[in-house]
Amino acid sequence: MPEKLKTEKLKTNAGRHLSKMVGDTYMDLHAKSAQGAFVVWIAINVPAELFLGFENVVYGVPESHAALTAAKGVGVLQCEKAEHMGYSMDLCSYARIDIGSVSDGGKDSPTFGLPKPDLLVSDNNNCSLLVKWFDVHHRRMGVPHFVIDVPFCYEPQKDKDRKYIIQQFNDLIRTIEEMSGQKFDMDKALAAVSNTSEGIVHWKRFLSFAENRPSGITAFDSFVQMAPFLVARGTSQFVDHYKLLAQETEQRVRDGQFPVPGEKYRLFWDNIAPWHQLRDMSGSLAKLGANIVGATYTSCIGTVEGSFDFYAFDGDDPLEYCARTQNCYICPHGMNLRGKSMQAVVEKLNIDGIVFASNRSCKPYSVTQLDQQKLMTDQFGVPSVMIDVDHADARKYSKESTFTRLEALLENIEAKRAA
Ligand code: SF4
Repeated sequence: MPEKLKTEKLKTNAGRHLSKMVGDTYMDLHAKSAQGAFVVWIAINVPAELFLGFENVVYGVPESHAALTAAKGVGVLQCEKAEHMGYSMDLCSYARIDIGSVSDGGKDSPTFGLPKPDLLVSDNNNCSLLVKWFDVHHRRMGVPHFVIDVPFCYEPQKDKDRKYIIQQFNDLIRTIEEMSGQKFDMDKALAAVSNTSEGIVHWKRFLSFAENRPSGITAFDSFVQMAPFLVARGTSQFVDHYKLLAQETEQRVRDGQFPVPGEKYRLFWDNIAPWHQLRDMSGSLAKLGANIVGATYTSCIGTVEGSFDFYAFDGDDPLEYCARTQNCYICPHGMNLRGKSMQAVVEKLNIDGIVFASNRSCKPYSVTQLDQQKLMTDQFGVPSVMIDVDHADARKYSKESTFTRLEALLENIEAKRAA
C-alpha cells in the first residue's frame, strides 16, 4: 500500500478532520484575501476573537505557518533562505522560516505562504524577538505594525496591567475600523470568545486522558492537535473539532486502545514541540516503553499564569477575558509561576521523569530551564534530563545524543524505583 494511503488509514476521525480543517483554512484565507478581505498577520498570543468581531477581516499566524512548514520537512530549506539574506542561525527558527518563505512569495511553503497583509499585529508577552521579526516585514512590505505591550508576570496578573492591555485592544479595534472601513461588533466578538471557551472545555477533557494508566494520549498527539487554536479559534468548527477529539479519545480508552500499551515510563516535556521529529521521537520512545504524556506547551492553553487549570469565560466582557488570558503561555512567567504550574501537573499525571528540551533558538522558553530542572529534581525528587533540540530547525538536533540522554533518564527512574 502506498505510504500516504497507509498513513491516512491509521489516522483517527479527529486526525482526518484536523488535516482537512487546516488545509481548508489556509486555502480559504488566500481566497478571501483575493476577494478583498482585510488581512492581518498576528503573533500567536494576539486574540484572534477580536478579528471575528468584524465582517470581513481574516488573519494568518506566521508562527503557526512556520511550525507546519517544519512538520512538513521544509523548515531547513526556508531557514537557509533567511540565512543567505544575512540573518543569523541563532535567531528563532520560526522567524527564519517565515522570513525565508516571504522572500520568494511562499514558493516552497506547504500552504503557498500567507496572503500579503494589510496590518501586522505582534505582542511582546512571549519575547521581544517577535516584535523585531514583524518589524522586518513592516520595513520590507511597507505594512503598518501594531505592537501590543503585555507586562511580564512574576505573580498573578494585576488589575492595572489588565486595564492597560484592554486599552490597547480598543486601540487595535479603532485602528482596524479606520483602515478597513468596517465596524466592530462586540456581540460577534462575545460569540467568538464563548466558542473558544467551550472548545477549550473539550480540549482539556482530551488532555485529561493522560491521567489514565496507560495514558490515552501522547504529548505528540496534543502538539499536532493544537493547530485549531491557530487557525479556527472562536468558530463553531473549533468547538466541533475538540468535541470530536475528546469523544473519540474517550472511546479509545474505553476500548483499551492506548498509544503506548506497554507503558513503563511516564514522561513530561518542557518546551515547544520538536516539529521535525514528532513521529520519529514518539515511535522511538514507545519502543523503550516510554511515553511523553504531557507538556507545558499544551497544558497552558486556556489557563491563567501559574495554573494549568481551565479558566472559563463568564459570558460578560470578551475583551476582559482576552486580556486576563494574555499571560497563559509559559514564556512570560517568572520562575515561581513556572515551578508552581509544573509541580502541580507533574503530580496530577504521575510523572516519572521530566525532559527539559533546551531549545537552541527559543531563548525565552529555555533560559530558566537549568534552574527549573534543579527545582524539580532537588526539591521534588523528580528525575529529569536536559536535551538539545530546536523547535523548527532540524540541523540543531542529534538523535544519537538525545536518545543517549533519554535512556540515561530511564535508567535513573529505574534506579529510583529500586532504591
Ligand atoms: S518565543 Fe521562542 S519560538 Fe516564539 S517567537 Fe520568541 S524565540 Fe521564537
